[in-house]
Amino acid sequence: MDRYLIARIPTVAPSVLTLGLLALILSYGPHTVAATGSTYLVSRQSNGTALSPHFTAISDYVDSITDDLSSINTEIHSNPELGYEEVKAHELLTSFMEEQEGWNVTRSVGNISTAFMAVFEGSGEGPIVGFNAEYDALPELGHACGHNLIATASLGGALAAADVMRKENLAGKIILFGTPAEESLGGKVKMLEAGIFNDAKIDISLISHPTSSGDSPYMITTSTDRVDVEYYGREAHAAAGPWEGINAQDGLLLANSAISYMRQQLRPSDRVHGFISSAGSRINVISAKASGSYQIRANDETQLSNLTQRVENCFKAGALATGAELNFTIRPYGYANHVTNDLLAASYATFFEELGGELEPSEIDKMKDPSGSTDQGNLSHEWPSISPYFQIFNEDGSVPSSGPHTAAFEVAAGSKPAFEKSLVVAKSLAGVAVDVLTVDGLLEQIKEEFEKTKTPSLRRRSLSRNA
Ligand SMILES: [Zn+2]
Ligand SMILES: [Zn+2]
Repeated sequence: MDRYLIARIPTVAPSVLTLGLLALILSYGPHTVAATGSTYLVSRQSNGTALSPHFTAISDYVDSITDDLSSINTEIHSNPELGYEEVKAHELLTSFMEEQEGWNVTRSVGNISTAFMAVFEGSGEGPIVGFNAEYDALPELGHACGHNLIATASLGGALAAADVMRKENLAGKIILFGTPAEESLGGKVKMLEAGIFNDAKIDISLISHPTSSGDSPYMITTSTDRVDVEYYGREAHAAAGPWEGINAQDGLLLANSAISYMRQQLRPSDRVHGFISSAGSRINVISAKASGSYQIRANDETQLSNLTQRVENCFKAGALATGAELNFTIRPYGYANHVTNDLLAASYATFFEELGGELEPSEIDKMKDPSGSTDQGNLSHEWPSISPYFQIFNEDGSVPSSGPHTAAFEVAAGSKPAFEKSLVVAKSLAGVAVDVLTVDGLLEQIKEEFEKTKTPSLRRRSLSRNA
């Protein structure tokens, strides 16, 4: 992720003096400023975007609810729950939101038991800002993707933005969506298909994600399909009459090999990975059934569609060569690539940098290769979206030795420095919401940019076919 890095301020906690110098540089600096006596550059992704007069109010409000946010963050982290089973997190977040003045909470929205929606209405019609809170964990790894921190940042951000609305008597709405099951199960896609975001008439969609590498308002992810395959052959005695059998295992192994050969002709950001889940059970019987699951990722929907077809052809090759029957199923709730809205990113950067955060220039940030996939991607094709990455640290301030989906990252996701970073993100996301609510013409410009950069929303389809 740091491949394009020109230079960076050291990632260790900056001293008061450094922060002071940084603030001085930022307050006078053009977009890129060389700092005295060092090789690093200070970038301003905000590109001169004016800082909101509500900055201090937002920051002070989040600071005032730190204890509540901290206990919620710890509670979710220490009680990991899998997708659609986030009963405790759902109860914790909804009961907390029900206690908040002016919020209207709907539990299990759209008949999805662990989804929810909390709405704060302003003084009349105005922009509608959606914050998404994730809180699912991974099997055996716990909160190794740090979704407890996503919940905390969105919760704090939504409450801070609503507090500004209340005090300034602003029009519009803030909606906190509880979005379960991000890991592979597509909670947001399910909510999208249930019409929850459409019915709420949101104008923009905000979320964030922790990482072990640098901070960035630009989340660049791949589109992805997940497929399940089954081969059906015919059993036969492996010694007495193997010629009477049809070897399902061989069909799947051939397909896996064909995929491996195909990798040579893939684009750098394409990925195909998976596993064989069964291939037979008796050593002296020709295997009559074999099955596996694979995930396919590519830059965007068009490239993914093409790649998924090529992968399907590999599976067909295995069937053709062995005579086994193939059942090829694309799972529902595939994820689209995430598209970041530049104006939302610039607004976020203004707050994040004012809070002491450091970002690479946006032109460089935007050139990163995609990594991973998220169901926020599907929303980003429907509404202007941001999902900034934020770097988290261990208890001792060191960088986690490995990234998301590892044990080391799970430990970091529960640390105090990681929680404190999520508060910076909460403030910055609240800042974006308040900008949208208060800056004349900003929402129109955001929507204009969204329309211009919109790519055709393609198939997020599931299908099952025999070959
Ligand atoms: Zn994850
Ligand atoms: Zn995640």
